[in-house]
Amino acid sequence: MSKKKPRPIPVPAQFIPGLIDAHTHLTSCRDDIATLVARAGEAGVDKLCTVGDGLKEAGLALDAARQFDNVWAACAIHPTKAGQLDEVARQKLTEMVADPACVAVGETGLDTYWITHDPENTADLETQEEALRWHIDLSVSAGKTLMLHNREADADLMRVLADAPAAPNTILHCFSSPLEMAREALDRGYVLSFAGNVTFKRNEELREAARLAPLEQILIETDAPYMTPEPFRGSRNEPSLIGHTALCLAEVRGMAVEELAEVLGANFDRVYGLTTQP
Ligand SMILES: [Zn+2]
Ligand SMILES: [Zn+2]
Repeated sequence: MSKKKPRPIPVPAQFIPGLIDAHTHLTSCRDDIATLVARAGEAGVDKLCTVGDGLKEAGLALDAARQFDNVWAACAIHPTKAGQLDEVARQKLTEMVADPACVAVGETGLDTYWITHDPENTADLETQEEALRWHIDLSVSAGKTLMLHNREADADLMRVLADAPAAPNTILHCFSSPLEMAREALDRGYVLSFAGNVTFKRNEELREAARLAPLEQILIETDAPYMTPEPFRGSRNEPSLIGHTALCLAEVRGMAVEELAEVLGANFDRVYGLTTQP
């Protein structure tokens, strides 16, 4: 019988007031949403943006956002599922994005990783690009933030963004690209959202990106249930664990974590348009 070393049970970092989670999937965390939101609150998380990356998931994200005062939604069809973006889906997404509880069009973008690894179940690049362009147009017409997923598609993503109309705000969620891409994205005014992988030992280049970014162009996220930060890498993630990522970024920036949380909270409000809402 083989014995697997048990993984440590993830626990939140110290209580950090005013934390945010700019990109999470509450409906994929295999726990009820009220429990997840309450546990996050106990760790200091004030505000969350939950992402629905398919038609059904987007509806659930919107339901959660309507139910909880401190939860907002992002709605789109994920690039790997871009083939599902038919007329009915476009109509429904347009309605969902118009809802005040929906603060972003996302996650849309490009993903060539799954085209390489599971082409049978992944939309091809042409279909993904067409869907991305449709989502960008929606973000512009609805006046909502564009939230982008990018996996091994840096050049294509930057090309499309350069010749498409500019969204009110553009977030590169789970930013994981080289420094050169970080510089270009920051020059264009995009916001880099750092996930748990910024804490991984080998990702010094990501921490360098987090170091050089202007403070107002940074967000943090769990992307739960994936991307669990150290020291719990590999376990199931949830919003209550965001403090570990915040502590890493505070160290990188040479700031007190409470001070960083305040900046991130202001960025969350600005980028998701909460400060201008009645
Ligand atoms: Zn993503
Ligand atoms: Zn995601």
